[in-house]
Amino acid sequence: MKVLKFGGTSVGSAQRMKDVAKLIVGNRDIVVLSAMSGTTNSLVEISDYLYKKNPDGANEIINKLAQKYDGHIDELYSTNEYKQKAKEQIKTYFDHIRTFTKDLFTLFEEKVVLAQGELISTAMMNLYLQELGVNSVLLPALEYMRTDKNAEPDPLYIKEQLSKLLEEYKDADIYITQGYICRNAYGEIDNLQRGGSDYTASLVGAAIHAEEIQIWTDIDGMHNNDPRYVDNTSPVRQLHFEEAAELAYFGAKILHPTCILPAKLNNIPVRLLNTIQPEAPGTIISNETEKGKIKAVAAKDNITSIKIKSGRMLLATGFLRKVFEIFENYQTPIDMVTTSEVGVSVTIDNRKHLEEIVDDLKKFGTVTVDEEMVIVCVVGDLEWENIGFEARIIHALKEIPVRMISYGGSNYNVSLLVKSADKKRALQALSSHLFND
Ligand code: ADP
Ligand code: ASP
Ligand code: MG
Repeated sequence: MKVLKFGGTSVGSAQRMKDVAKLIVGNRDIVVLSAMSGTTNSLVEISDYLYKKNPDGANEIINKLAQKYDGHIDELYSTNEYKQKAKEQIKTYFDHIRTFTKDLFTLFEEKVVLAQGELISTAMMNLYLQELGVNSVLLPALEYMRTDKNAEPDPLYIKEQLSKLLEEYKDADIYITQGYICRNAYGEIDNLQRGGSDYTASLVGAAIHAEEIQIWTDIDGMHNNDPRYVDNTSPVRQLHFEEAAELAYFGAKILHPTCILPAKLNNIPVRLLNTIQPEAPGTIISNETEKGKIKAVAAKDNITSIKIKSGRMLLATGFLRKVFEIFENYQTPIDMVTTSEVGVSVTIDNRKHLEEIVDDLKKFGTVTVDEEMVIVCVVGDLEWENIGFEARIIHALKEIPVRMISYGGSNYNVSLLVKSADKKRALQALSSHLFND
């Protein structure tokens, strides 16, 4: 059995849904769907109005969205019977959203509102397949996808509940389920963060020991650079799990950063495929390394770097521990670290406690902060004994001021910190020196 996940654009219109149906019918797989593109953003906007106690503002967007779905339904189904059925079902979700325009609105209600997008898209697909005569079954994510008290997925629970559901519906031709949504440790509706449908797919894949996890999106696999900033990028055919994880974490939006680990732990290959061009080979992510190659570049925005310079660091033990402890006390993860004999620089992307952190660090030395930075991450076979790769990367950036360089933390990457204003230039320079020469 495989797990196939289709993102927002892949189910973004009635026609796209029909195209997806063609791709999935005929195999007894589990299909994870996102909300139709734009829907989660609209639900966020609705929630925003409700937080601001503006029910009229919220209702306006709800009505527009409901109207849009009416159009999708008319286009998707061919029989009146199914148009009617779909309209009745979808109305219950919109009615549910409307109940929140009258009451207190908190984080809890917001999560319920955000969950409606995936509930709607899966209901629509399930009914469409049934109209085509396929014995399609909905696996409700809210019955098997759960996080624990640390907000981490609970793999044992997921596996148990999912196998029960699969056993209950073992005669189904195909299974449809919601990405992104889950319940938390207290049984409340929650989610796996924006873009989290990829995570659902890999958690489901791990739970059922899937033969493969496929992430279907609007581009033919992981490209060697960010196509939103660089022209002439090309697909990378093969990536190691670690390379994919680095790229996803450092900004390659095609994959949610959390989605690699469950696949890697269970050694399940992840294939990235294009719904618009299904015959394209895409990218396969597995345990194999392609030797002697730089594979791809990605960039992570909104980074802050902090430098602590201190004479006391010279020949002292325990200095780094004290510095790191401060970040730990404020639950602020560090991405990059570089050191010299008299100082250390680190980067963070969560600025919530920046002021307190800087205050505390001042006990140990002179503190300098640089904001609006980006981490540019170059991924490939960067084992230290390979010669020349670091030199090519640095050479590519010879016209661009580089604030930090980190190499040797893994066999797979070099990270460089540059100003946000230089991001595009840095990405382009790396592409032309590393891939287009
Ligand atoms: P989905 O809605 O299917 O989850 P996303 O928008 O989350 O799709 O991810 C696909 C998008 O990721 C692409 O359209 C592309 O613009 C962007 N992207 C960023 N970096 C890369 C990369 N290195 N390779 C491919 N796509 C990338
Ligand atoms: N619909 C959610 C979002 O837009 C989850 C996803 O698409 O992965 O973030
Ligand atoms: Mg996505």
